[in-house]
Amino acid sequence: MEYDTKNLEETKQAAAHIIETISGHSVSGNRATVVALYGDLGAGKTSFVQGAAQALGIEESVPSPTFIIERVYRLSDQKWKRFVHIDCYRLESPEELHAIGWDELVQDKDTILFVEWADKIEAVIPPDTLKIYFEQISETMRKITYDENHA
Ligand code: ADP
Ligand code: MG
Repeated sequence: MEYDTKNLEETKQAAAHIIETISGHSVSGNRATVVALYGDLGAGKTSFVQGAAQALGIEESVPSPTFIIERVYRLSDQKWKRFVHIDCYRLESPEELHAIGWDELVQDKDTILFVEWADKIEAVIPPDTLKIYFEQISETMRKITYDENHA
């Protein structure tokens, strides 16, 4: 599946569409729903997570967790109870993830987990993760692709 977005708003809409799709059925059985985001700086990963947050009714702002690695938001009236946003950009080693309770996190079926720079922790990404790839085509155009067999 592919989205070609012309601006920030279209990237947020793409996120809302994908959320709608994966809300409809169980992607990961009894574990967390993990969405891994790949792409260079400025490709639109954080913007996509902000679109997903809006789609799931989060009203507060969702800043990039680049420096603190993880932010957690509570959801109400949704398939998931908890929205977790992790940015691995500054992660020195996958072991640092244990400090934030990664193993429990991915076992929690009530959590939807977005991971930026997931390539840095590929070894611990669960096999049923939805992987989304971001490409900057021009100043305002982005190509967003994912495996439709998954979502
Ligand atoms: P990343 O998290 O991948 O580093 P961000 O989402 O933080 O990327 O930044 C993307 C930047 O590109 C934002 O400043 C956003 O306004 C801008 N932008 C321009 N066009 C688009 C688009 N089509 N989709 C997403 N972001 C866009
Ligand atoms: Mg980012």
